[in-house]
Amino acid sequence: FNFIVLYRLILIFLPMKNFVLSLDAGTTSSRAILFDKTGNQVAVAQEEFTQFFPKKSWVEHDPVEIWETQLNAIKSVVKKAFINPDEIDSIGITNQRETTIVWNKNNGKPVYNAIVWQDRRTAKICKDLIEAGKEVIFSSKTGLLIDAYFSGTKIKWLLDNIPDLNHLAKRGELAFGTVDSWLIWNLTQGAKHVTDATNASRTLIYNIHEGEWDDELLTLLDIPKSLLPEVVNSSEIIGTLNKSILGSEIPISGIAGDQQAALFGQMCLKPGDVKNTYGTGCFCIMNTGSNAVRSQNRMLTTIAWEIKGKVTYAIEGSIFTAGALIQWMRDQINIVDSAPQIEDLANTVEDNGGVTIVPALSGLGAPYWDPHATGAIMGITRGTSKANIARAGLESIALRSRDIIIEMQKDAGVEFSNLKVDGGASNNDLLMQIQADLLNSKVIRPKITETTALGAAFLAGLATGFWKSTKDLEKLWKVDQSFEPNPDDKTETIINLWEDRVSRILS
Ligand code: ADP
Repeated sequence: FNFIVLYRLILIFLPMKNFVLSLDAGTTSSRAILFDKTGNQVAVAQEEFTQFFPKKSWVEHDPVEIWETQLNAIKSVVKKAFINPDEIDSIGITNQRETTIVWNKNNGKPVYNAIVWQDRRTAKICKDLIEAGKEVIFSSKTGLLIDAYFSGTKIKWLLDNIPDLNHLAKRGELAFGTVDSWLIWNLTQGAKHVTDATNASRTLIYNIHEGEWDDELLTLLDIPKSLLPEVVNSSEIIGTLNKSILGSEIPISGIAGDQQAALFGQMCLKPGDVKNTYGTGCFCIMNTGSNAVRSQNRMLTTIAWEIKGKVTYAIEGSIFTAGALIQWMRDQINIVDSAPQIEDLANTVEDNGGVTIVPALSGLGAPYWDPHATGAIMGITRGTSKANIARAGLESIALRSRDIIIEMQKDAGVEFSNLKVDGGASNNDLLMQIQADLLNSKVIRPKITETTALGAAFLAGLATGFWKSTKDLEKLWKVDQSFEPNPDDKTETIINLWEDRVSRILS
């Protein structure tokens, strides 16, 4: 029996608002994380759910399972942390984006599985729209491209293909939502049908300039407006947790799609601030302030957040192959046994020995957009070692990130200030140093790399006054390590070789 236990027991009987609960509804699992006032993670609970692949290129989730795993995670995190639910100040939600759920408003039951963002079943609908010349209308209003990725064509598919849905939709009996909406509907037991501006901005039917569902786009996709949720701020009390769930009515006050929540959690609050997530691929997103920048390179314009009615925009680009290249080196050519070992191996040599890797393992995205490109290792000589290849592999991830960031900078017309990083491969110090050198700018890795969940917590606590201002939040955001740029002649050679060699593999 120690002081901490005693302190916790006192708080259980005399609750104060000590925590924000963040719900991170991901693509493979539902997580619940408690943060305290200093932004520290107090406890986390996680539960996976089933991935369904009913046909080639179809991906579905069971909405009921999403809700039940989320509910279990909520209950279990409260138990684990040994707290009284009355101590929770507020709830923030962040979620896999674009995934589409339609349910019946009368009984709250989903009419079909969730169609996941990865699902390509609506590729034909998209192709037809593009061929009918509709791309400009959609992209100018939504900031997106016509692609199966986004919710709009998934809703259309449901209404056109599931018996009775069209009829029920026209009668106003159905509700559409992304995963945030679906969770809030359940958390409030049907009292609220809302989504926030960031999630709305991924649907292909939301006008990001006007801040409203767009009648013309809805007509093109034949989606009745009655289906749609009310769009709320990303940081605003929008309802309360139904008392039956934890025995306490907790405000729900933060909502953002996962990448946007991470941008906020990284405190990228000024135009030009960028975060890059180094996972299987890279997700790069730059704050462009009040300016909805249209990319010349098919990158996406999106809403970063809406707070007190003021919209902040962002430009978003992704790289298909990042950590996946390291996985390939581990599993296919076996030059390392584990991903982190790549750093030790690469550190055994001074440089890449003239090797360039083009990591086009699944085509090349922005700014090359060559889906048929395949990868290459170039510049091999008799003296090339696996360590040179390891080093060139890390450089290739940083070079692709540099490509994207430079284009974003051009698109946005802002100097980017510094790069904040997260994701599994951001733990690789050498990769981060290479990134700083290649960009000639500072790369900053935060202490808390759970930036997505943290961002949702920040948005929620900001709305209730748990945290007073973004200035308060900036004080909580702590640097783990900062990598200062130190480019030399070799850096220039790496870039020159890259520019030459990448052009040779384009089809
Ligand atoms: P995801 O969320 O996409 O599953 P994670 O953020 O968990 O990805 O990161 C895992 C990816 O990062 C894997 O592809 C792995 O190869 C790569 N990775 C993990 N640790 C390192 C490391 N120290 N150096 C380089 N790559 C790494």
